[in-house]
Amino acid sequence: MTLRVVPMGGLGEIGLNSMLFDDGDSAVLVDAGLMFPDDTMLGVDYVVPDFTALRDLAPHLKALLLTHGHEDHIGAVPFLLKELDIPVYGTRLTLGLLRNRLEEHGLGGKARLFPIARDGRFRLGSLDVEAFPVCHSIPDGVGYVLRCAEGVFVHTGDFKLDPSPLDGVPTALERLRAIARTEGVTALFSDSTNVEHEGVSPPERFVGEALEEIFGQAPGRVIVAMFSSNIHRIQEALRAAASCGRRVALCGKSMVRNVGTAIELGYMTLPHPGILVPVEETADLADRTVSVLTTGSQGEPRSALTLMALGEHKHVKIREGDTAVLSSKFIPGNERAIASVINRLFLAGADVLYEKISEVHVSGHGSRDELRAMIRAASPRHFIPVHGEPRLLIRHRKLAEEAGVPHSEVALNGDVLEFSGGAMSRAGKVEVGRRFVDGKGVGDVESLVLKDRFHLSQVGLVMVVVALSSTTGELLYGPDIVTRGVVTESGSEALVEGAREEVLRTLEEAGAGARTDSSEMQTDIRRALRRYFNKRLERKPVIVPVLLEL
Ligand SMILES: [Zn+2]
Ligand SMILES: [Zn+2]
Repeated sequence: MTLRVVPMGGLGEIGLNSMLFDDGDSAVLVDAGLMFPDDTMLGVDYVVPDFTALRDLAPHLKALLLTHGHEDHIGAVPFLLKELDIPVYGTRLTLGLLRNRLEEHGLGGKARLFPIARDGRFRLGSLDVEAFPVCHSIPDGVGYVLRCAEGVFVHTGDFKLDPSPLDGVPTALERLRAIARTEGVTALFSDSTNVEHEGVSPPERFVGEALEEIFGQAPGRVIVAMFSSNIHRIQEALRAAASCGRRVALCGKSMVRNVGTAIELGYMTLPHPGILVPVEETADLADRTVSVLTTGSQGEPRSALTLMALGEHKHVKIREGDTAVLSSKFIPGNERAIASVINRLFLAGADVLYEKISEVHVSGHGSRDELRAMIRAASPRHFIPVHGEPRLLIRHRKLAEEAGVPHSEVALNGDVLEFSGGAMSRAGKVEVGRRFVDGKGVGDVESLVLKDRFHLSQVGLVMVVVALSSTTGELLYGPDIVTRGVVTESGSEALVEGAREEVLRTLEEAGAGARTDSSEMQTDIRRALRRYFNKRLERKPVIVPVLLEL
């Protein structure tokens, strides 16, 4: 027997975490996350793995195991379940957050969700699965120990070693030590996100203390932006607000929904029953008694925070005296958008606090000392760094080597690793595709469409509308020319007029007969205008002729 491990995403990139474990008899997928798009992916809301390959790759896929409720671990589950109807295992909060997403995709009633305890152990075919608790920026996180004929495999999920966890449950290093001692760990797959940071990551509690100070000192309203899945932090913000006599308004659909889920499942408690206030009622309260928790910490263009900064939010418009806090990491790829929203907030008169200048964010991922402690506890024979861009994976591998792990390997998405007879080897590569999702997954974007959008943003668009008689070829309307992103206001009229004449000349030269063949006319017009714009502007805008036959 052989255990095959295939990273479907998250190895070589940030986000999109998903990893397949397959012993030939049974297979499980650990996590199915999404990735937020970078600057080149215009109009794309997020990216998910293409799971169609799984059908061939692992026909005996038994289940999806979830480590915790962050988007980069559960965000692609609706897309997975549309491809493959498999049961999903996770802790109660993780499944609660997932259920909200599934409902958005109309899968609420259909999905088979099995809640597990944080130290639960169960069997899936030939695989023995044991969860173990880990600390992270969201409650109810776990890692997994997978046992099969080829050994014991440990996947940490996202973790840190918080010495004073908010829910009182530490990362289960003790349990891993016991497993290492009694059974031996064949391979450890560990979170690389924070390998560039020396020492240890501060406990989540720190953010609560920082927020308390800000809530206490700010002269007016305090608007705090964070990820809506950061349940620990929302809880801390509620506590800090209450202790400073502020009430809290929640902004953003996912913020409202996730808080509801966390309260309902008992993962969040309100400091007092009157703490929450509808955002539309904050205008009636004194500024010093108001705090707003909102989404949009990554500078997302349509998020509540951006709208507030632009003065376009229905209920909260940023003004002099406000304090805005961005309580989250600047995710690589989003820096520009975040900087832009910070600038907007300053321009609107707010004081702005963010990661670089204040303790308003701590990482949910372990730093080097914690990563070392994890490696020592599991003392694996083999080590595979997970979660992160290549440089993080490579640095984490070095760390493991320094810590004395006999064999470690950097694998990227699609690289197949095989474990057999206690040895690890590489076994080629499988194609792991990507899907670009636009909106709520209704219109999935092909990478071709994406290329078009990128191209359009660079070169602009010229649309020509012409109506011709389908019988005589006579010109009935137009040519009407609309340009986008091609010409500036000044000088555009002459240019467009020139283009109109070019189209008229093309129609004339074609003659009445050819004018009844719309595909030929489209080609001719496109060619003529391409030549025209290239000559006049040295640019090649996308030309879209629209021919109406009447
Ligand atoms: Zn996470
Ligand atoms: Zn993560």
